[in-house]
Amino acid sequence: MAESILFLAHVDESGKTLPKAAYEAFSAAVDLAHRLGATLTVGIVGEGVREAANTFSGAGVRILGVAGPDFAHPRYRSDAAALEAICREAAASIVIAPATSRFLRVMAGVAERLKGQIDTHITSFDIVDGMLSAKRWFYRQRLEAVIQRAGRPWFLVMDCGCQDAWSGAQGTAKIEMIEVALPENCRRTVYAGVRTPNIDAQTIRPDAKLLFVAGAGWCKKQPDGQTHLREAESIILQFLEESGASLGGSKSLVDQSGENQAVLGFMTHLNQVGQTGSTPRHPKGLSMCCHGEEPHVVGWRFISERRAVNLDPNCGWARGKADVLYVADAFQVIAKLNSLLAAKAVRTEEWCEASHELNPAGCQQ
Ligand SMILES: Cc1cc2nc3c(=O)[nH]c(=O)nc-3n(C[C@H](O)[C@H](O)[C@H](O)COP(=O)(O)OP(=O)(O)OC[C@H]3O[C@@H](n4cnc5c(N)ncnc54)[C@H](O)[C@@H]3O)c2cc1C
Repeated sequence: MAESILFLAHVDESGKTLPKAAYEAFSAAVDLAHRLGATLTVGIVGEGVREAANTFSGAGVRILGVAGPDFAHPRYRSDAAALEAICREAAASIVIAPATSRFLRVMAGVAERLKGQIDTHITSFDIVDGMLSAKRWFYRQRLEAVIQRAGRPWFLVMDCGCQDAWSGAQGTAKIEMIEVALPENCRRTVYAGVRTPNIDAQTIRPDAKLLFVAGAGWCKKQPDGQTHLREAESIILQFLEESGASLGGSKSLVDQSGENQAVLGFMTHLNQVGQTGSTPRHPKGLSMCCHGEEPHVVGWRFISERRAVNLDPNCGWARGKADVLYVADAFQVIAKLNSLLAAKAVRTEEWCEASHELNPAGCQQ
């Protein structure tokens, strides 16, 4: 069957460009179109789509747009109407979209309106026996499914962090605008604004180069027989602020917060990494005061370079789970690291290269 591909995107909050997840999914769409010999069309929704469309001008694709104040913000009825109109105009057999929160809310409804089929959390595409195959993970990233469907149109919503973001020459794109007349009953939901937590409370940062994972050891009695919770809180927060790292936690640590024990105040279950937690994607990971047990480390599947700091030379990280284990006191190591970061002596991205500086006297590597 000759396939044709439609790639869908929405303008981000800046009103000028698209979310990073869109450029990542577009990379996959370009590659797939090339491998299938399929035509590729781009459809963009937003208050204004001109600047976002220009970022695709180097791709040599047909660009469709739906624009206007009604499409500035996420809203199920207006987004569904806009996307349905684009899909009907493009009449593609495959529709690829990024897994942004705006699209995840509406894409299944759009597939239903088009009498199509939909799969979400797609991580990559392949051609198997000449047929398009989409891959996704199940059961906490332990099983990889390869999905084929005969039904068309087939909507595929791609997870972020799985592809390199597309970039190409920018110019003035030719846009075919589609008028979408929105009935009054599609405007009943009104956008009121965005409420975000304080910047220092946003500890989960999916785009960070480094994942910093704190374990229960931060709350345990230290060699002086005392716990040092307030000190741990302040040095971890300082590290996150200086480094821009994303914060993960072990189950033992986040469970203590849930049980109202005295723990790190900023740690929640959303930070939990592992089998029953999250499986974040970052180029590098640094674990401190976490034992490195298997149910925790399965959450590190997509962390490429791993380092850990633990007092115990026989902890799980020493058993092939980390590239480097520093057998050291995490309180000392992070204090040294913070002073280097504050002095701009080392950037987070370079912490691997500068690791000898982070290694207090007496640490084994
Ligand atoms: C079905 C199932 C699912 C699970 N899912 C998850 C999951 O999703 N995520 C998860 O994390 N766990 C999970 N677990 C639990 C997991 O097996 C471990 O119990 C948990 O990860 C332990 O957390 P921890 O390493 O922080 O704590 P601990 O095991 O208490 O380790 C604390 C570590 O801190 C070190 N330490 C103490 N002080 C210092 C210091 N000053 N400097 C350096 N190191 C120090 C100690 O040496 C010790 O190794 C699961 C378990 C089961 C059975």
